[in-house]
Amino acid sequence: MIDLEEARKQILARIAPIGSEHVRLEDALGRILSQSVPTRDPIPPFDNTAMDGFVLKYRDTSSASPDHPVTLPVVATIEAGMAPTIPLEDHCAMKIFTGAVIPPGGDSIIPFERCLRYDERTIVIQQPVAQGAHIRRLGEDVEAQGSVLAPGSRITPAAIGLLASVGAAQVQVNRRPRVAIHSSGNELVSIASELQPGQIRNSNLYSLQARVKRWGAIPIARPILRDDLDLIRSGLRETLELKPDAIVTTGGISAGDLDHIRDVAREMGDDVQIRKVSMKPGKPLVDGLIGGVPFFGLPGNPAACLVSFEIFVRPALARMEGRSDGILPQRCGVLKAAKEVPPSDRLRLLRGRATPAADGGPDVIEIPSGQGSHLLGGFAAANCLVIAPASTEVLRPGAQVHYWSLTDEEA
Ligand code: AMP
Ligand code: MG
Repeated sequence: MIDLEEARKQILARIAPIGSEHVRLEDALGRILSQSVPTRDPIPPFDNTAMDGFVLKYRDTSSASPDHPVTLPVVATIEAGMAPTIPLEDHCAMKIFTGAVIPPGGDSIIPFERCLRYDERTIVIQQPVAQGAHIRRLGEDVEAQGSVLAPGSRITPAAIGLLASVGAAQVQVNRRPRVAIHSSGNELVSIASELQPGQIRNSNLYSLQARVKRWGAIPIARPILRDDLDLIRSGLRETLELKPDAIVTTGGISAGDLDHIRDVAREMGDDVQIRKVSMKPGKPLVDGLIGGVPFFGLPGNPAACLVSFEIFVRPALARMEGRSDGILPQRCGVLKAAKEVPPSDRLRLLRGRATPAADGGPDVIEIPSGQGSHLLGGFAAANCLVIAPASTEVLRPGAQVHYWSLTDEEA
């Protein structure tokens, strides 16, 4: 048996970034920037006012006090979008609105509400105005001829705004992996089928497609592979023609006589490892390269296949796309009720639900019954994998537990 971390390390060692593409800015949310983006204009592109009020020269207000207010004539109005060219003379003020250009000679703003009085013709000021007050400077956010955002940055809504402000209508981003998904098994039928004796519906295809999509990668649904060496070979060859970035199969990797995925992967692939990972669920795992494409043979049991995806496929997809969030974040919580953990020589990953505590304390963890690797009922509402080391037999209420969070906050 191999330790989970060690297996993951070996898998990730084979994974390389898959390159980049151009996308429209409106399609770039959540993507990873390949290059920082050059800027033509500084942002803000000109000195402008942060407040509605009056622009003036601060020196003209230096003697102002409640006993000796200063009165200045209002000689013009500047609205946002205008390009004022007439300079502000000494001992004068101009009315100005937020975002409007500071006229030549103006150096400070007094907001309307800070004036003692004002009307269309004069303002009365009772305290000195600080030099540069309420002026937003040219280039304060983005320098001219510079660049914004480092390569590898994740594009957030605010980053989209920043990129829009520098006129980046298209951006170069890392490609999202295209993931081909095959289920395998003679018992599988399409989910629309009425079940005949011995049959089950192909649910793994749907859970994995959803997982890949939620992650922000592109699933390619492939036909069910029947438990036949030749059909598996030809099915995988057809999939390779689609040039996927990864191939994921479920089922057919254990010790059964019909578990042929394992054998075909070894025959067609390079560096194919048939593993027994020290984790429950998810002990069997086959990984390697088939036709140069990273291949993941996941277990067929529905909960095991999703857990193995989280532990091994997700970090691989992250590396392909240059993302830093491939490994599930580990957190701490407190168990709500006792949980018996059947003895095992493997690390148990229990599907649980972490809820923020009302008092701001550690998260409260609930672990539903139905932890079998074939059971999805308890998994459906789970948002974490609670880690129970191999020796654990009972998790007591109030015990501190570590868990891996399954919520993709950024996706
Ligand atoms: P296997 O690894 O092929 O022995 O499959 C293990 C268990 O998972 C068996 O009970 C299968 O019926 C079940 N299983 C395999 N593939 C799927 C699938 N695509 N959807 C739902 N259950 C599956
Ligand atoms: Mg099978």
